[in-house]
Amino acid sequence: MIIVMKTTATEDELNHLVEHVEQLGLKANVLRGTERTVVAAIGDERVEGVRALESAPGVDNVMPVLAPYKLASREAHTETSVIKAGSLEIGGKQIGMIAGPCSVESEEQIVETAKAVKAAGATALRGGAFKPRTSPYSFQGMKEDGLKLLATARDETGLAIVTEVVSPEDVDLVSKYADVLQIGARNMQNYRLLEACGKSSAAVLLKRGPSATIDETLLAAEYVLDGGNGNVMICERGIRTFESHTRFTLPLATVPYLQQKTHLPVVIDPSHGTGHTSLVPAMAKAAIAAGADGVIVEVHPDPENAKSDGYQTLCFSDFDKMMGECRRIAEAVDRTL
Ligand code: PEP
Ligand code: MN
Repeated sequence: MIIVMKTTATEDELNHLVEHVEQLGLKANVLRGTERTVVAAIGDERVEGVRALESAPGVDNVMPVLAPYKLASREAHTETSVIKAGSLEIGGKQIGMIAGPCSVESEEQIVETAKAVKAAGATALRGGAFKPRTSPYSFQGMKEDGLKLLATARDETGLAIVTEVVSPEDVDLVSKYADVLQIGARNMQNYRLLEACGKSSAAVLLKRGPSATIDETLLAAEYVLDGGNGNVMICERGIRTFESHTRFTLPLATVPYLQQKTHLPVVIDPSHGTGHTSLVPAMAKAAIAAGADGVIVEVHPDPENAKSDGYQTLCFSDFDKMMGECRRIAEAVDRTL
């Protein structure tokens, strides 16, 4: 961490600062410039109290140099983590393709979808049983009955199940059925939920909140990792901007940026990221071209009559066509799908 002193800082203020830095367990190196004095504080700057040094007399500015997250950082773990959860493998050469409806609606709907997406090459089945809806009047999901139908779909196809958990009390229940616990965008900063998922043996797909920064997203992942669950993947699903032609704005630079900062696999959600069926295949292909480790996409037997998010959902034939195109992109970037 670099601490910049004010031009008016006195020698007493500098000495006081050096003492305080050393009390925090850091080593203070004083560097006197022609206009300003700066103090380079060496050691683990993530300790409590460091940022408050900005309030010490004579201090102008405190600039951390280490990322605020530790376990999620690429410095801590230079190789990309490969996560295996049933049929889903993500983070290696193989691209994870997670496909299925926004919500589980019936046995026929989920089993039919599971078979269709598997035949097209998907490596996991998504489907929400607990739905976090913006409106309380919208379909809230089939809850445990939906989880049982997901288990049936897994039995029939062998596909790993990715499904959302919305509250800490439900983590044990959802973990009984799921291979991957999805933490939704609206819940990214629900710290009790993150802690509870940290204790689960199921992998976690953590979605970025629509107004969360990358650092906040990685700190949310840090909660799960710190709880003892190392199987976390980060999902970019779009952020809120002034633009309204798409439901959210899907920033694909997140893929290489996250891959520089973290060893956790990166997944892109082109369904929520665009909010329009017609835009999904292009963004899925772009995600793979950008180096994404996985894609999560909404697929339904009859999108027009889906109980949620039909406007951004692919039908089986569109998904199959998209998979063929994605496979060619994957090959071009030396991945398999
Ligand atoms: C979903 O995956 O259906 C969902 C609700 O996603 P998000 O949390 O990204 O809005
Ligand atoms: Mn959805």
